[in-house]
Amino acid sequence: MTGERTYLDYNATAPLRPAAYEAVCAAMDGIGNASSVHKEGRDARALVETARQSVASLVGVEPDCVTFTSGGTEANHLAFRQAADRGSTTIFYSAVEHPSVAEAAKLASAEAGVPVTEIPVDDQGRVSLTALEWLLASGGDRPFVSVMTANNETGVLQPLGQIAELVHGQGGILHSDAVQVAGKLAFNIKTLGVDMATLSAHKIGGPLGVGAFVLAEDAHVAARQTGGGQERGRRSGTENVSAIAGFGVAASLAANMDDAEKMRTLRDRLEASLKASVPDVEFFGSSVDRLPNTSCLSATGLKAETLLMQLDLAGLAVSAGSACSSGKVTRSHVLDAMGVEENLAAGAVRVSLGWKTTENDIEKFCDAWIKAVQMSKRTSGSGSRLAVAEG
Ligand code: PLP
Repeated sequence: MTGERTYLDYNATAPLRPAAYEAVCAAMDGIGNASSVHKEGRDARALVETARQSVASLVGVEPDCVTFTSGGTEANHLAFRQAADRGSTTIFYSAVEHPSVAEAAKLASAEAGVPVTEIPVDDQGRVSLTALEWLLASGGDRPFVSVMTANNETGVLQPLGQIAELVHGQGGILHSDAVQVAGKLAFNIKTLGVDMATLSAHKIGGPLGVGAFVLAEDAHVAARQTGGGQERGRRSGTENVSAIAGFGVAASLAANMDDAEKMRTLRDRLEASLKASVPDVEFFGSSVDRLPNTSCLSATGLKAETLLMQLDLAGLAVSAGSACSSGKVTRSHVLDAMGVEENLAAGAVRVSLGWKTTENDIEKFCDAWIKAVQMSKRTSGSGSRLAVAEG
C-alpha cells in the first residue's frame, strides 16, 4: 500500500501488524522443525505452543482445544469432518455463510450420505430462529449446525446464544465461523455455547495462510489430512512455525480490542455523512447488531463494477465481487438471501475499517462515493448485475 492509497478492505485481509511482522521474521531466522527433539526443534515448538496459548485465550479455551490449519477455509472443512465422526445424520448451515462453509457442508454431506439444508435468514441477514427450530425438529440424530458469528459482507451478528440453545435442545452440535469477529468484538466460545469455531490470522493483522480450528472442550478431532501426526494427529503436515508465531502475536493484540471503538466511531461517521448527502443510501443489516468496522451500502442506479474502478482510481481499496475468488463477479448470495432488490444489490460495496484507518480515509471515501453517485445520476446508464465482497 503506497502513501497515497486508502485501504478500506479489512474484511478481505487486514494489513499485517508490525509486531506480528517482527514475530514472523524472527521465527524465520530459526531453523528447527517443531517435531524435532534437538534444541532447534524445541525452540520452534516453543514458538508454536506460545502462539497456541495466545489464540486459545483470545476465544476463552484451553490451548489443547486449538488446532492450527492453513487458514479459515481449512478450519471450516475440518469442522464439517466432525459431523460424520460424531454421528450427525443431518447438516444445516445458514444461507449467508462464506463459500468455504457451504462447500465444506456439501462435501461432508456427500461423504457421509446425510442430507444438508440451508437455514433461511430475515431481511437483516439474521438466521430465522423459527425456521431453525422447525428444521431441527424435522428429524435427524445429533444435527450438525453451522452459523457464522459475523457476516463478512454486512458485518451482521447472529443470535448465537439463542441458536446454541435450540441446537443443544435437540442434542446437536454448533459450529461457528468466527473469522470476522475476532479483534472487533469479544468472542468467548463457551459463553456463547458454541461447540467449535474457526479463526483466520490474516483477518486480525496476522499473516496469510494460517488459521485455527477451535473446540470449546478438548475432545477427539477426526483429521482431514493425515500423515506425520502433527497437531496431535488432528492435522498432519510440518507446522508453519513463522506464520503460527505471527498469528499468536496478532491474537494477543486482537484480544485487547484497542481499535473497536475507534472503528465504530469512524464507521458511524461515514454512514452519517453519506446519508446527509445521499438520503436514499441503504446500509444493509444496519437495523440489527453489526461488527463495528463494516458498512455494506448502495443506492439505486449504481453499478458496483464502475464504482469500484472509480474508487480505485481515486486511491481507494474497497470490495465488491468476491475477494476469495478473484475476478469472479457474481451476485451476492448474502444480499440475495436477505431479499435485497436487484437494482440495489447491483451497486453494493463493502467498506471495512481496521487498525490503520483514519478520519481522513473516511472523508476520502465519502467524497469519492458521493461524486460517483452524482456522476451516475447524471449519466444513469443501463443496469448490471454485481455483488458485494465475499472475502
Ligand atoms: N470465513 C469467512 C467469514 C471469511 O470472510 C473468510 C475469508 O474471506 C474465510 C472464512 C476464509 O478464510 P481464509 O482466507 O483464511 O481461508
